[in-house]
Amino acid sequence: TISMAVIDQMGKIAVGTSTNGANFKIPGRVGDGPITGSSAYADTEVGACGATGDGDIMMRFLPCYQVVESMRLGMEPELAAKDAISRIARKYPDFVGAIFAVNKDGVHAGACHGWTFQYSVRTSAMKDVKVFTVLP
Ligand code: ASP
Repeated sequence: TISMAVIDQMGKIAVGTSTNGANFKIPGRVGDGPITGSSAYADTEVGACGATGDGDIMMRFLPCYQVVESMRLGMEPELAAKDAISRIARKYPDFVGAIFAVNKDGVHAGACHGWTFQYSVRTSAMKDVKVFTVLP
């Protein structure tokens, strides 16, 4: 899965997800990719979130909607991301997944459960992407 958020020069924020779906998926499975708020969510007034992992579990929590709404209420991206992941982990301790969060100022963070997560960032001031590693 590739989830990506962009903030343009006007400050508008967009997010999207592309996925080949879960391993061993049954024919016709749609998954979490197209579900707004599950694998991706953005609000230009707040920030954005993208997700990857066990979509059949994660879609029950709309974790990206949760992250953006938490940031709207003042949570920093790191706490918002960790909170959304821990809400899932409390009910499904064996789930594997990760999310990134970025607020409208470009402050970003990741959180994960069951695996080590890497995400990359590039701003207009950077020549190349920088990869961030998040431990569970
Ligand atoms: N979330 C995707 C799915 O369950 C899989 C992935 O993130 O790799 O379809």
